[in-house]
Amino acid sequence: MNILCADFVLTCNDNFDIFYNGAICFEKEIVDVGNKDDILKKYKNAKITELPKNSVLMPGLVNAHTHLEFSSNIATLTYGSFIPWLNSVIQNREILREKYSESKTEKLLDDMLKSGVTTLGNISSFGIDLLVCKKSKQKIVYFAEAIGSVALALDALYSDFKARVYEALDLKDEKFIPALSVHSPYSTHPIITKKVVELAKNKNLIISTHFMESYAERCWIDNANGEFKDKFFNNFNPDIKPMYESGLEFLKFFDGVKTLFTHSVFANESELEFIKSINASITHCPTSNRLLVNDKLNLQNIKEKNILLSLGTDGLSSNTSLNLWVEMRNAIYLHTNDEIDSLAKTLILSSTNFGAKALGLKIGQLDKNYQSDIISFCLEEIPKNISNLCLQIILQTKSVDLIYINGEKVI
Ligand SMILES: [Zn+2]
Repeated sequence: MNILCADFVLTCNDNFDIFYNGAICFEKEIVDVGNKDDILKKYKNAKITELPKNSVLMPGLVNAHTHLEFSSNIATLTYGSFIPWLNSVIQNREILREKYSESKTEKLLDDMLKSGVTTLGNISSFGIDLLVCKKSKQKIVYFAEAIGSVALALDALYSDFKARVYEALDLKDEKFIPALSVHSPYSTHPIITKKVVELAKNKNLIISTHFMESYAERCWIDNANGEFKDKFFNNFNPDIKPMYESGLEFLKFFDGVKTLFTHSVFANESELEFIKSINASITHCPTSNRLLVNDKLNLQNIKEKNILLSLGTDGLSSNTSLNLWVEMRNAIYLHTNDEIDSLAKTLILSSTNFGAKALGLKIGQLDKNYQSDIISFCLEEIPKNISNLCLQIILQTKSVDLIYINGEKVI
């Protein structure tokens, strides 16, 4: 049994309890958390580690949405507006795939780990990242993605998808968790969506899907017009129509299966209410939204509707970093209408407790019986005004000093 003592223990539990001069006692799972004196008195035989001055202990971070397969992008893709970006993805998809490197991905995962990300949700379009993810030190929820709209090709696309899913299922263990992804309502045929949801229900898997990322998607699904028609689908087939009658019709497929809706920046009120009614969550990727759609999720509205909110970096196809601290800082600078201390707290919870709940994992909180995924780092300076604590943690932290996953020291 181990005990870690720190100046600040952020439990990130539902009450957001913080222990000043706190301690955590843990094995593979957390045994107890509380004031240092109480914990030391209660567990006399444990191995005690006193962390340095200004130390913070908190749950490992959860990056709920990324695409490791697109990590070779630096400036290949077009930023500034969604449809030009999407066209650049179509044009360069194979080039990026060829430039994909296993050793670079290993390094990326290692960098993420050093930044404190102990769990990530990774969308896999091709399956070329399977073995790297399986070998990674952190927990990975591996979302095999289904995409395809051409009616004649659906059987072939679905069987390719299913083969990738079964390959992932064969590798399942406590750190590698297979899951499913439906790309989006504008790219994935209802027949495929229905089959993916059925498979998720049969195998008890969760689903991630992109939803209402751009204004172009909103116009296309609502009115079959706008940039999607003029600058995207017209390139392939001018007669094409949206595959779903409405955004709500797409959402209804996911009733009864645990789903993460990524982006949802342009989701309307009835869609958000439906997302809440099926206990689904929204994954916020603020930097990606800034670069691709020049807009941001209305966080106040998500909070008022009590929708579970996780945080993700998205892939390097729409970001420059997979470091969740950078993402939190970017969110602080982007969400200028939100009160800064409460925003900082929301971001920390989205990167721990909420992200873990969205992925269906018993992590993200320093609380009894939760898995011992723990990080620790030291602040350069403690805020004089302690109401700035969360904000200062986000502003000052770039990497962490100590990482435990399932109670085992990884760094
Ligand atoms: Zn994405």
